[in-house]
Amino acid sequence: MRHTLQMPELPEVETVRRQLEPRLVGAAVTGAWAFPSPKFTDATAATGARVAAVGRRGKYLLVGLDGPPGRPARELVVHLGMTGRLGVRPADPGAGRSPYLRACWDLDDGRVLEFHDVRRFGRVAVVPAGDYGRLTTLARLGPEPWDPAFDGPSLRAYVNARRRFVKTLLLSQRPVAGVGNIYADEALWRAQVHPQSRRLTRVQADLLAQAVRDVLAEGVAHGGTTLRDYRDADGAEGANQYRLDCYGRGGAPCHRCGTELRQTVVDARGTTFCPSCQRR
Ligand SMILES: [Zn+2]
Repeated sequence: MRHTLQMPELPEVETVRRQLEPRLVGAAVTGAWAFPSPKFTDATAATGARVAAVGRRGKYLLVGLDGPPGRPARELVVHLGMTGRLGVRPADPGAGRSPYLRACWDLDDGRVLEFHDVRRFGRVAVVPAGDYGRLTTLARLGPEPWDPAFDGPSLRAYVNARRRFVKTLLLSQRPVAGVGNIYADEALWRAQVHPQSRRLTRVQADLLAQAVRDVLAEGVAHGGTTLRDYRDADGAEGANQYRLDCYGRGGAPCHRCGTELRQTVVDARGTTFCPSCQRR
């Protein structure tokens, strides 16, 4: 199995968030550097602020910033893109700067928060707290999977009103935030819904909403899925890749019925499903 692309999804971002929260809250940013690209130059605007919180929406990390005095609360928004890695380490002024460093923030206790991103699909922004007008994808995110606003009836209403492939709609971040290609395939397999269904029954929608919540929660519990580039805030791989039932298993037997899983393309996204368990 060869994976050329992997976009961190909710479980990977949440894993990083949980690691960073205790390490960053309370630290003051005394200086910053950014790679000269509009995707990263906002990083320097965090200088002088103190970290008040480390949150997440969908696949975005939201670092709450207080101050400096007289300035309203802001947020440092980080999207990991495909190869982004965020971590805290002791400052080492003698070490050279990695060619893949895109932003770094000096902390008042002698540590540094670093954002490395080989392929530069990531993004760093500093915005007034809660003001995501510059970040349209973040501004338009649907509810978090555990928000009561996301349930079987809301998912069914969304899908059945649009009549597009259910997998495409899951990836759109609109009916629910945080699902990407891996967890979409896993949830559809678990709920026994064909990825190219354009309508959901009440029963299917209830099963799929629950499956979305379950596969994401299990992904978090196992530190995320590492296929290629994803690493947590300590540089370690996740373990959820050893637990996948469907994604990336095309040609292998279905864990439920033994039928060979089929690999196809749905709206340009590689997709695996069971032709026996997931009928249209
Ligand atoms: Zn099957």
